Amino acid sequence: MDYAPEPYADDNIFAKILREEIPAFRVYEDAETLVFMDIMPRVDGHMLVIPKTPCRNMLDASADQLAACLKTVQKVSLALLGAPYGADGISLQQFNEPAGGQEVYHLHFHILPRRDGDALRPPRQQGDMEAIAAEAERIRAAIAAAA
Ligand code: AMP
Repeated sequence: MDYAPEPYADDNIFAKILREEIPAFRVYEDAETLVFMDIMPRVDGHMLVIPKTPCRNMLDASADQLAACLKTVQKVSLALLGAPYGADGISLQQFNEPAGGQEVYHLHFHILPRRDGDALRPPRQQGDMEAIAAEAERIRAAIAAAA
């Protein structure tokens, strides 16, 4: 195997969110993972799932880190389908290394709640913080209702 990733750098934005050095709209966490809102949402309700332990991306992640993240992806996704949140489907995105579209070097999965017939917004556009906060509240309520 030739892949030799850059070492994990703990000054990345998501590591700072984990250490609570910068704010985030947190919607769910368990012992191994954290879910928070993406501040440049491609759709309403765009979230990121990250492991609490360090790894750069899917390529250097352990099986346990991947399993923990996907377990959380599934749990949160199921809570959003149908009432009360009302998603019709879920898109899952995950990018690795610059050529793969990765911009933040702490493993993360994008959960995009989809509505029938919707379209993705362009990437890298700052979202409206009040709208994201309101969406986070709706998602927290849906997760609590599904528990
Ligand atoms: P990528 O590495 O390409 O999968 O994308 C990183 C994602 O992180 C993008 O969708 C950004 O909008 C998102 N992002 C960057 N900084 C923050 C932040 N401080 N809080 C929440 N999401 C962020």
